[in-house]
Amino acid sequence: MLDIARLLCGNLSTGEVLRHGRQTATMPSELLRFSQDKKPVVVWNTSRRCNLHCVHCYTESKDKVYPNELSHQEGVALIDQLADFGSPVLLLSGGEPLYRPDVLELAGYAAGRGLRVVISTNGTMITREKAFQIKEAKVSYVGVSLDGIGPVHDRFRGVKGAFEKSLQGIRNCQEAGVKVGLRFTITRQNRDQIEGIFRLVEEEKIPRVCFYHLVYAGRGKHTARIVMEPKETRSLVDLIFQKTRELYQKGLETEVLTVDNHADAPHLYMTLLKEDPARAEEVYKLLLWNGGNNSGIAIGCVDEQGFVHPDQFWRSHSLGNVRERPFGDIWRDTSDPLMAGLKDRKALLEGRCSTCRFLEICNGNFRVRAEAASGRVWAPDPACYLTDQEINAPVPVEAVA
Ligand code: SF4
Repeated sequence: MLDIARLLCGNLSTGEVLRHGRQTATMPSELLRFSQDKKPVVVWNTSRRCNLHCVHCYTESKDKVYPNELSHQEGVALIDQLADFGSPVLLLSGGEPLYRPDVLELAGYAAGRGLRVVISTNGTMITREKAFQIKEAKVSYVGVSLDGIGPVHDRFRGVKGAFEKSLQGIRNCQEAGVKVGLRFTITRQNRDQIEGIFRLVEEEKIPRVCFYHLVYAGRGKHTARIVMEPKETRSLVDLIFQKTRELYQKGLETEVLTVDNHADAPHLYMTLLKEDPARAEEVYKLLLWNGGNNSGIAIGCVDEQGFVHPDQFWRSHSLGNVRERPFGDIWRDTSDPLMAGLKDRKALLEGRCSTCRFLEICNGNFRVRAEAASGRVWAPDPACYLTDQEINAPVPVEAVA
């Protein structure tokens, strides 16, 4: 997760991060990614069931009851495990999490145990009443997925009218005083929607927008139908940089983030280097602390049946089950070769990633994408859009001091 707005337009500094000690327990949520101890943010797919049918759904969810999902009591036990382990954030996801009748009760319990609770939802079920219940449950943030404006979003989500319902869900959250933001997944089918999303953010006064790069999993698998050429991705990231700056120039300090393509970090650094070398070096240090891809390190996933995965896209690879062992024990256990590799992967990476000068701030990007495209977990990530020249030129000495 790359905080484009604060790094490119704001003045986030190493000093501000150091003031909080770089420890998970003492850091505000927006700075957690710079922590030294890297306690994992945990995505819990509370249920696989969903009322929409999105073209890129990594859980391949449908509107049906799935068997053997964690019960309410097992959910409470999971939350206790995460709180005891010191996970800072619980992200309630799905399927559609609000389909699960007890999800806000679980959210309230997690907030009471000191976790910051976030809901990732399609927004269509957030009625006015539900929004106030979300507020009461002390949910810190609601991320609503929108993959385009009007019919584009509906086509993406497989249900006519989904856009209007999601937008109403956003408005209901704002009325109830719940912090709400957008989640947009960039694909070949909606690449022309980014400017419209920025317009919507401005018109609706939405405080945060996250642009997700596609990770090839589930229905979002690696096909020409949905995957973009790296060069196109790069130009869209540049567009996001430009539109973020325009918001700032208008005095709107909207949070803008990109997620799931860690080549964005060196790209942002090189962009800054051309304009303001001193600021670029400060940002480079922050990017080093961020560390690039954190699958198996600072991001983890528990699926609807209690299986633990190195991130939400590794559903094909389980590290254990929270019904049998506490999450913390599973997370610390490096007897699984994939988990051991993800925690310390630099020597395993192949090809251009292995010699890239930006390895420290990218960490080899997304291994799920590499495996989906080539069949090899440690192969280069095909979504990297940096040129060979860019990744091989020496890093300025002051950047790594
Ligand atoms: S070559 Fe690999 S490590 Fe370097 S920026 Fe690209 S994805 Fe990241």
